[in-house]
Amino acid sequence: NIVTIADVIRQQAKDQGEAPVFTFEGQQMSYAQLDAGSSRAANALASLGVNKGDRIAYMGKNSHLYFEILLGAAKIGAVMTPVNWRLAGPEVTYIVNNCQAKILFIGPEFVDLVKQIKSNFDHVETIFCSEQADEEFAGYPAWRDGFPDTDPMVACAPDDDALQLYTSGTTGHPKGAIMSGYSIFGARAKLTDDDLADWQKSQPGENMLLAMPCFHIGGTGSGLGNMYSGGHAIVVREYDPTQALDFIEQYGISKIFMVPAAIQILLNHPRVGEVDFSKLKYISYGASPIPLEMMKQSIDMFGCEFIQMYGMTETSGTIVALPPEDHDPNGNDKMRSVGKPLQGVEVKIIDEDGNTLPAREVGEIATRSSFNMKGYWNMDEATAATIDADGWLRTGDAGYFDEDGYLYIHDRVKDMIISGGENIYPAEVENAIYGHPAIADVAVIGVPDEKWGEAVKACVVLKDAAEISETDIIAHARTNIAGFKCPKSVDFIPELPRNPSGKILRRELRAPYWEGKD
Ligand code: ATP
Ligand code: MG
Repeated sequence: NIVTIADVIRQQAKDQGEAPVFTFEGQQMSYAQLDAGSSRAANALASLGVNKGDRIAYMGKNSHLYFEILLGAAKIGAVMTPVNWRLAGPEVTYIVNNCQAKILFIGPEFVDLVKQIKSNFDHVETIFCSEQADEEFAGYPAWRDGFPDTDPMVACAPDDDALQLYTSGTTGHPKGAIMSGYSIFGARAKLTDDDLADWQKSQPGENMLLAMPCFHIGGTGSGLGNMYSGGHAIVVREYDPTQALDFIEQYGISKIFMVPAAIQILLNHPRVGEVDFSKLKYISYGASPIPLEMMKQSIDMFGCEFIQMYGMTETSGTIVALPPEDHDPNGNDKMRSVGKPLQGVEVKIIDEDGNTLPAREVGEIATRSSFNMKGYWNMDEATAATIDADGWLRTGDAGYFDEDGYLYIHDRVKDMIISGGENIYPAEVENAIYGHPAIADVAVIGVPDEKWGEAVKACVVLKDAAEISETDIIAHARTNIAGFKCPKSVDFIPELPRNPSGKILRRELRAPYWEGKD
């Protein structure tokens, strides 16, 4: 069974040959070309003294060349670390230094930024522009073309470090999750086509749209998964809703993974009603909760099947999924869940002492499978706090199972509000408020309260020109949830702070209230 990343492209070059693996801005790359190009990259990196276990970093928007460099690194046992390009200078420096990258590849958009911050890099020896050369930095394509396309065949084991992705930093500093080839492909390699549902397979001739950024596991994971199943991915530099709609028609896209925020933008696009979605078979979504209303609108608009995915960087992406057959447009109960564990994945709900809880009881979600990361890079304490001796990984998410084995996410353990001894999960309160026609967006936080310890506060963004009072919002919530869960107060704000995956940064909303109190 193939479980190193490099072995996958070696095998696919034989099986798929001239079939396209990626198309980027009109340029098509075949499996054979990806294999040859990544061998050149491997030899080029080795010429600079990059060895097995060394980190290289890539700070650029999506491109087929990102995957070529990643595979080139994998062929010599080096480890690709993509860096979130939306971050500010000091945050980029933090990751580049934390991963100890020797070589850094940068996209054309970031040349100026990197010139400003590069004196702060501790380990970087050489910087390349991923595309055209700049007056200061050589260009990657011209450089790698000077090396032979013979595969260096450095011996690597399935469990060797292969990829390092940083978490989104929703709850604090991003952490470098180390994945092996086994974490990414191990579970899949054990399954045959018969074990897989239709939405888990890729059919020859099918095109998927890779619209999510590769610095998140959603982007890199779908690109590598596409390669594993012999598919063709249309890679976009950066998510752009107009282009996404054009590509869906032009390439007859059959599959897309999007975060709910990206789906929301498509739904609001003025042209969405005129687009031919007939070839689109599946939209998978995840990374943050999706409001039920939005799911219903999406089913109406796109007319395709939906799969919800739950996972995280630390689990190499998806570990639990809600399949199309559980997406009932009339909104059955299961639609509020994230589904059931994938093949080979164990999930349990535990209390603070690590005891397993029965169905319907909320606790922390823990998981064990080949998908689990090896650990956090240079953070032994955080790793020990996250993965126990038996291999169970604590997700930091709260949730519960129903009697049928469906998992329901109840937010981050850290976001839970304790008011008068009752545990209140922001997502439930947000859902109770979100359905109101005057409300565009809402986030719920706990604020200090002398009587209750914490009190529930809703931060509400109104739709343009809408008017509604604090009392009306609280009354509306009360029609959906128990009184003790309802907000005690409402802040009206122009916009919610979100990270690029659309996750609400509750810590930013909480901060002003907790100054000096936490
Ligand atoms: P950090 O760990 O640095 O605070 P992060 O947890 O947001 O950031 P990621 O690994 O990118 O970083 O995101 C994983 C998290 O996203 C999960 O732990 C969970 O909270 C959330 N998530 C993922 N899928 C879903 C989903 N389908 N529904 C709700 N939340 C989800
Ligand atoms: Mg996390």
